[in-house]
Amino acid sequence: MRSGQRVFDARQHDPYQAAGKHPEPTVCPDCHAIFHAGHWQWGSAPDGAHQTRCPACRRIRDKLPAGWLTLGGAHFNAHRADVLAHVHKVAAREREEHPLNRVMAIEEGPDEVVVTTTDVHTPQRIAEALERQHHGEFEVQYGHDEYSVRVHWRA
Ligand SMILES: [Zn+2]
Repeated sequence: MRSGQRVFDARQHDPYQAAGKHPEPTVCPDCHAIFHAGHWQWGSAPDGAHQTRCPACRRIRDKLPAGWLTLGGAHFNAHRADVLAHVHKVAAREREEHPLNRVMAIEEGPDEVVVTTTDVHTPQRIAEALERQHHGEFEVQYGHDEYSVRVHWRA
């Protein structure tokens, strides 16, 4: 892993999260996350809540991922269904804990599968979980802008 130890605050750099102030309560009309106590979280909005699309749903609408996770290798391709089931499990847990961290799409090619996400953390979380269960290795490359990341896992 090349620059995985680097610490940065994605919210400070991510243009989708930069305009982070909303009247409270605010609800996202697409996913129904609520903006409360300064951040987006799952919950129920009271009647008459202000409506603003959350940063994750804006990325989904714009089809502009923040994260890319590429999965490949002989072991992966021999156990693709198992590995992808694991990807879904980790992604569901991540989304539950962090409403803005979501898988956008999973595109299956003949040799590789590309998972795109709304945030820069989910690709690495998934790769770490896959490494624990299926071994292999992964590397993390941040974009120069630091609000995009590409993770490659091979096994
Ligand atoms: Zn939303």
